[in-house]
Amino acid sequence: MVSKKPSEAEEEYMAREEAEKKRRLAIANTKHLADADRERLKELHHMRCPRCGMALSKLALHGVEVARCFDCHGIFIGEDDIKKLVGEEGYWSRVMQFFARKEYAQDKEP
Ligand SMILES: [Zn+2]
Repeated sequence: MVSKKPSEAEEEYMAREEAEKKRRLAIANTKHLADADRERLKELHHMRCPRCGMALSKLALHGVEVARCFDCHGIFIGEDDIKKLVGEEGYWSRVMQFFARKEYAQDKEP
């Protein structure tokens, strides 16, 4: 087991708490939507970048599918796929380490 500095453990705890708050808020916000509204929203936003609105491209990354925006350089991946990439235990901190790697840094214009 990898020991962590107290600040890393605290950051991970705060990130989990924040994610849980956002999850509860998202569920509360979408509960009232009718199926037709859900379908309309899905048609509008499916495979569109949530950051800039451009089209996303599906790419294979170490056996999982990610959605990449070549406009703003965003990479979008489902939680289950993140767990496949980095493992179950302590995956939040490993996700941050994973995407901090050089090959996933934003492309720079020449
Ligand atoms: Zn984008």
